[in-house]
Amino acid sequence: MRLSWRALPIAVAGALLAASSAAAPYTFPSIDHPAGIDRACAAALVQARSMERRLETWPADDSLLGALDDLAQHLEDTMGPVGLLTAVHPDAGVRAAAQACERRYQAFVSSFLQNVRIHRSLGRVVPADDIDRRFRQDQLDAFEDAGVALTPMHRRRAQKIARDVGRLAQDFERRILEDRRTVAFSEEELEGVPRAVWAGAPKDGQRRHRLGLDAPTYQPVIEYATRAATRERMWRAGLMQGGDANLRTLAEIARLRREEAALHGFPSYADFVLRRRMARDESTVSAFLASVQDAVAQREAADLAQLQAAQPAAPLQRWDVPYLTERLRRERNGVDQEQFRAYFPPDASLAFVFRIAERLFGVTFEAQPQPLWHRDAKAFAVRDGAAGAYLGTLFVDLYPRPGKYNHAAVWGLRNVSTRTGRTPAAALVVNFNRAGLNLDELETLLHEFGHALHGLLSATRYASQGGTNVRLDFVEAPSQMLEDWVYDPKVVALFQQVCATCPPVPDGLLARAFAAREFGKGVRFARQRLFAAYDLALYGPRAGEPMALWRGMEAATPLGHVAGSMFPAGFAHIAGGYAAGYYSYLWSLVLAEDLRTAFAGDRLSAETGRRYRETVLSQGGQVDAAELLRRFLGRPPSNTAFFQALSRP
Ligand SMILES: [Zn+2]
Repeated sequence: MRLSWRALPIAVAGALLAASSAAAPYTFPSIDHPAGIDRACAAALVQARSMERRLETWPADDSLLGALDDLAQHLEDTMGPVGLLTAVHPDAGVRAAAQACERRYQAFVSSFLQNVRIHRSLGRVVPADDIDRRFRQDQLDAFEDAGVALTPMHRRRAQKIARDVGRLAQDFERRILEDRRTVAFSEEELEGVPRAVWAGAPKDGQRRHRLGLDAPTYQPVIEYATRAATRERMWRAGLMQGGDANLRTLAEIARLRREEAALHGFPSYADFVLRRRMARDESTVSAFLASVQDAVAQREAADLAQLQAAQPAAPLQRWDVPYLTERLRRERNGVDQEQFRAYFPPDASLAFVFRIAERLFGVTFEAQPQPLWHRDAKAFAVRDGAAGAYLGTLFVDLYPRPGKYNHAAVWGLRNVSTRTGRTPAAALVVNFNRAGLNLDELETLLHEFGHALHGLLSATRYASQGGTNVRLDFVEAPSQMLEDWVYDPKVVALFQQVCATCPPVPDGLLARAFAAREFGKGVRFARQRLFAAYDLALYGPRAGEPMALWRGMEAATPLGHVAGSMFPAGFAHIAGGYAAGYYSYLWSLVLAEDLRTAFAGDRLSAETGRRYRETVLSQGGQVDAAELLRRFLGRPPSNTAFFQALSRP
């Protein structure tokens, strides 16, 4: 979801693509066959190369900064939509063509960023102000990270590595996306699982229901199946996704990234990339993760002891944890995630998050009908409430289908630029149950919506610094900040403003749900800490083989490692852009908890919301994140709120 020279999602001005101006709402390009993508891709790259030639002789003054951003915008125009189509288009041929286009784009970018002449001119530019200074430095860093200062031989090697890693990361993601594995269960075996989850599933020769591993199916089986054997089979299937092929791919990716770091004189990929993040270096991240572990270890042990006590007859296994956690939440707090679906129909849930943004940030959302990649996908024009000015377009794709990205994410299709009058667009992709959302899913929706707002409410000078183009370890903070809004009765009451037929959530249920969510926090954070530590080790100086590394680290946890499970084969984050960056979820949460303190009195305060929009969201990555927090909070950022929340009984 993060846009950068290195990463990518971006798109542009080919003949197939609708030109958009500040006045006309953006429409999604109508590319829906592989040849169309090939043509748009080729045209965009031809133009990009001619822009590169012009940049080589561009005067070394501050107009070069704008010219560089023009190229970024041009690429974004094509690659934004193309990047999204790799994940959502129903036709495998279109997805494959889109992936091929991404590879060509990556090859262009890694070669462009080694352009010595442009890099030299950029080095001579005298920035006019702080925004230009930061933009220039970010660009210089990108050139240097791509190897512009290396010897010609090492430059070629760095390009080859960038191309290979891009291709391997695509392979990794595709094997998970196209995994059609099913697990067959008889009706008896599915005891406890809501009927709606399995009743429509295809049957095998023995009249057993063949269930896939998409979230709306996997999750309820793991959380509700009363039979341990059912949960175990589902869990094992989920932990096999990607398979041996992905383990080999991950090993190769880690090896290549280590080699890339070595070309630049760094002992590990973690050291190479962390210097561009808020955290700065590996030892800071390790120390942070150790402090998280200290804060949660006892709590994890206490959680597990309670789960074991709930199932005295058999030793606690990993596939028992979600089930028993949910069971105890039902027994102790009277909270069942399934009961929420009646209150949160999908369309009303979307209107609900829109309403939150309207209250906080003074913006409105209006359906903007247009042909899209699938009939479930919808477009909304975002307008500034006060003046009604068009701000940008949000695309939403709510329901699962074969071949679609199976988690929740936002694609920043294009970024704002006040310099050129460019408006932003983002796509929110989730996989919800048509019957309604549970409270966890409502939280997920709000989280992803937070990313979309970051892009849509940005007002940066350069597109390359718009919205979520911030440091990787800050990018989750604005989204995470919103997550616990769904436990506030005053916020949830907005449902009745957007949905006349939605029954109000009964008094006290949200408070009980919050208490229920607090239970299991030790297990949850310990797991996140483990994932982050594993990622850091994998990209550290001495990683070894991914599965052996994982086996060793997981074996050291209270529940140990289950032979045959291969979690790293499905860990797409770290094969892709979150390499040596998974810790960002915990790191950002520190910042998110700190941001929340400003909304503690009133989560719907229009005054605080306006200040937040102006000081944080609108600035994207054009100001240092710590500085944004300082401006908004009126003091330096602090980790006090995070550690308080972690130890809250
Ligand atoms: Zn996120």
